[in-house]
Amino acid sequence: MALTSALKAELVQHLKDLHLPTIRECYAEQADKARAEELAHERYLLELARREGEVRRGNRIARLLRESRLPLEKTLATFDRKRLPARVNQQVEVLLEGSFLERHENVLAFGNPGSGKTHLLCAVGQELILRHGRRVHFTPCNLLVQELLIAKRDLRLARVLKRLAGYDAVIIDDIGYVQQNREEMEVLFALLADRYERGSVILTSNLPFSKWESIFKDPMTTAAAIDRLVHHSVILELNLSSYRLEESKKGKAAKG
Ligand code: ADP
Ligand code: MG
Repeated sequence: MALTSALKAELVQHLKDLHLPTIRECYAEQADKARAEELAHERYLLELARREGEVRRGNRIARLLRESRLPLEKTLATFDRKRLPARVNQQVEVLLEGSFLERHENVLAFGNPGSGKTHLLCAVGQELILRHGRRVHFTPCNLLVQELLIAKRDLRLARVLKRLAGYDAVIIDDIGYVQQNREEMEVLFALLADRYERGSVILTSNLPFSKWESIFKDPMTTAAAIDRLVHHSVILELNLSSYRLEESKKGKAAKG
């Protein structure tokens, strides 16, 4: 027997107050189905709870993807993992499990330009959101540095660092690509120090550690930065030829 219209209105109001929009949408239809199939009350309730939960999870994932600023076209599905050395593939498999985030481990990817560092780490970042509902934030290093500098100038640096601390992983793409001055280096160092043992840093670089003095200027700061990053870390060595170059060669070969 369906509800009277007065009771229906009351139910809808409760569901509104309790923020259960999906149940509000589907309870009547599911009630008809439950009556027709003679389902137990608990089965009906279970179905409603499932649907509400599913929609919520979906919304949360969509929001996390949006807020991550990840280039979402760089997916794992479009990344050719056969190009990776077996060891790196194993490391990627472990990263995809996501537990490194709980241990606040860092991921450092090194390799020539075009070897696929950015694509691979963006793909991993996206999977961490999709599979584990993790909070991930992607930013090119030079953009991040500019953002931190502006924050510092406006006396908001602590606040911005706190916001970034809310992410399980901050992906810093292409550290050392642009030469930085001392002030720029200092805010970058402040971020790394802030995240140390509190949240993962995932970064890519064309520069091996031996050239990092050009990023952090003096040997002491360079050593301190490397020390913090490496202490709990996974290092991916992508010593590969450029994917772009190979693809363009293949294209030319195919054309004749
Ligand atoms: P890096 O960051 O190391 O300079 P990118 O990740 O930007 O390299 O890769 C350069 C280009 O080649 C991108 O368009 C990327 O999508 C593509 N690419 C690189 N490696 C692969 C791969 N293994 N499978 C598919 N596309 C790749
Ligand atoms: Mg890159």
